[in-house]
Amino acid sequence: GKTIGIIGGGQLGRMMALAAKEAGFRIAVLEPAEGAPCTQTADIVIQAPYNDQNALKQLAEVSDVITYEFENIDYEGLKELMNIAYIPQGAELIRITQNRIFEKEAIAGAGVPVAPYRVIKTEDDLEQAIAELGLPAVLKTATGGYDGKGQFVLRETSQASKAAALLGHGDCVLEQWIPFEKEISVIITRNTEGETTYFPAAENIHIDNILHESIVPARISKETKQAAHEAAEKIASTLSLVGTLAVEMFVTLDGGIYINEVAPRPHNSGHYTIEACGISQFGQHIRAICNWPLKSTALLKPAVMVNVLGEHVEGVTHAITQKPEWSIHLYGKDEAKEKRKMGHVTILTDNLEETLNDIENSHIWTK
Ligand code: ATP
Ligand code: MG
Ligand code: MG
Repeated sequence: GKTIGIIGGGQLGRMMALAAKEAGFRIAVLEPAEGAPCTQTADIVIQAPYNDQNALKQLAEVSDVITYEFENIDYEGLKELMNIAYIPQGAELIRITQNRIFEKEAIAGAGVPVAPYRVIKTEDDLEQAIAELGLPAVLKTATGGYDGKGQFVLRETSQASKAAALLGHGDCVLEQWIPFEKEISVIITRNTEGETTYFPAAENIHIDNILHESIVPARISKETKQAAHEAAEKIASTLSLVGTLAVEMFVTLDGGIYINEVAPRPHNSGHYTIEACGISQFGQHIRAICNWPLKSTALLKPAVMVNVLGEHVEGVTHAITQKPEWSIHLYGKDEAKEKRKMGHVTILTDNLEETLNDIENSHIWTK
């Protein structure tokens, strides 16, 4: 059988591996952390830092095709790896999406709206950008942030110097605050022939900047859905996408959309696809990078996905015995730290309101 190499051993890699193994692939993973989620499902584990040149070489030697489960990979190293390995997604996709400045330039360049923003390199830049964009606004580090880490929401000009501490992590962007009605995401997948699919848009609810719940299908108009697909397609074309791209968007009260950010991989808001679609985002990703024909992404049944953070594990473990209709996924992480993504629950439903009530009444996610 063929071997798929994955850079990164987190839960996204694990779910990719599980999908690939169903299709008969062997899995090799590069991951520094012992016992990380994907290492438990991989056939070959290379335990080393992501940018270790020897380890990458080793991964190339055992893999027929290499993919990644996160975007913070060393770009130059990945480019070099392309000389000795087959990496159909390419390195350019990583270079752009790992830096908010390049990412926003690319999206805006594709003719798709992003929140008005300015590149911030100094505290003076910040003062000037606040004057131009107005407040509220959010300052974000260009690289390295996730789950709202590396962000500062500014409501008053007096907060500028405190926010400017983020410049210690490198260049930033200041974004105008978009008073959105809801947040949605669209996951677009493209194989090397250019065949393209869209998974049904998810409506995403965040708590403390961490995804809490996805509701599918998103409660948006046909027009908004169409606009979301068109935006995703334009971005995918600009990025010469192969594989999976998750596109996070804000929907405004008038149904307009702004792109928040993109990720060149399966995404937390697409976990519902495992149960709710004929192919999961992970299976489709594997098909895309192997240049297999893509499967239909049609929604078999509406779904709600709820994240299980460290503080929810106990409640969810208990619920297993009482909620036969809940599909429970745990990622095999042993330390249930607060706010750490430990798993998720997906519930297929023909009665959204009842399901949301059921989740609420379980008190697992209420403080
Ligand atoms: P992740 O990569 O884990 O999704 P992140 O750290 O990259 O998160 P963002 O997606 O940039 O963070 O922002 C987190 C959340 O903050 C968004 O989902 C949204 O709720 C809110 N937010 C971010 N930027 C804006 C904005 N310009 N206007 C309104 N809300 C925003
Ligand atoms: Mg992000
Ligand atoms: Mg985000």
